[in-house]
Amino acid sequence: MEFEITGKERLWETFRSLTAIDSPSLGERRLCDWLKDRLRELGVDCYEDGAGDIIGGNCGNLYGFLPGGAGDPILLSAHMDTVEPSSGKKAILREDGVITSAGDTVLGADDAAGIAVILEAIRRINESGAPRRPIELLFPVAEEVFGLGSETADYSRIKAKEAYVLDLSGPVGEAANAAPTLMAFTIDIHGKAAHAGFAPQDGIHAIAAAARAVARIPMGEIKPGLCCNIGTIAGGRARNIIPENCRVTGEIRSLSHNGALLLWEEVKAVFKEEAAAIGAVAAIKKDVALSAYETPLNSLTVRRFRKACAEEGVACAIHSTMGGSDNNNFELHGIEGLVIACSMNDVHSVREYCDLNELEKCARLVSRLITGVDQDEDSIAVPTD
Ligand SMILES: [Zn+2]
Repeated sequence: MEFEITGKERLWETFRSLTAIDSPSLGERRLCDWLKDRLRELGVDCYEDGAGDIIGGNCGNLYGFLPGGAGDPILLSAHMDTVEPSSGKKAILREDGVITSAGDTVLGADDAAGIAVILEAIRRINESGAPRRPIELLFPVAEEVFGLGSETADYSRIKAKEAYVLDLSGPVGEAANAAPTLMAFTIDIHGKAAHAGFAPQDGIHAIAAAARAVARIPMGEIKPGLCCNIGTIAGGRARNIIPENCRVTGEIRSLSHNGALLLWEEVKAVFKEEAAAIGAVAAIKKDVALSAYETPLNSLTVRRFRKACAEEGVACAIHSTMGGSDNNNFELHGIEGLVIACSMNDVHSVREYCDLNELEKCARLVSRLITGVDQDEDSIAVPTD
């Protein structure tokens, strides 16, 4: 089946409109309303949940169901929020198809690229009348806040066991089938204040304990798929006072959930030891923001993606990522997902850019994934790598 190339201009128009709407995390209201209107024009039934009330935003997660279709349902997802600086975003299309921001904000291709592609793919399927699978959509809020929106989503509404999350950097055709546990931690060392000149012997130096602990913690990439970082350290009140308190924050990322827990035990023990060594106390808090998953390479989700890439002549590459996404939460609910590249580059920076030719390629891939109703499971090749 062939689709018209004119869809490219429509993709640009959708992308431009989407990025012109301010949609920071927890402030997705306007974008959600715009999206509901577009989805209803496409015949999609929409439902918004109450996630905003639960997580302190002004908007819920948006679900969409396109009635009809046959075969296994497919879930397509892209998040509605963007990182800062985002106020007043403006997409600029260059002659070569590259799209940038004006330079003072992010572009918002993360994740407007994903939303634009999903809308375009559904339009093409509607226009072509091609046989298709039942389509379910989920546009979460607050993905950029450790997937808070998809964490609170109502999974009883979703029948699909196969998801494609359009939220990955890199060339279209790349996809991530594994992502890490992300553990955030805060450690407060409590010592004792004293005058630094008159009675230094009476003080317990919280910063010194923290510094010794930080120096002992393994940092950076400890081994492939395991990273640790101390991100902030703050403490003390004045130059001439022995600091009573020091707060350290950091994170652990690990493709193995157990690996994260083991490293956490080590980090905790080091801080407790160094605090105790000088008579201070370490108060320790951790939060597992996301849990690791791995979608098997021989799963239908991966095989169908490879097949779609082959049919479109797109080079396919499946790998792990050290970044989390809504897919971490989908997997907790028994959905096998792939996070697929949808043309977002240098994300989370004002240099972020997108490529209209890549958006078009991704729209074709997603159209392929939605069709393929007659696929016999056994006919979908098992990957060789
Ligand atoms: Zn994203």
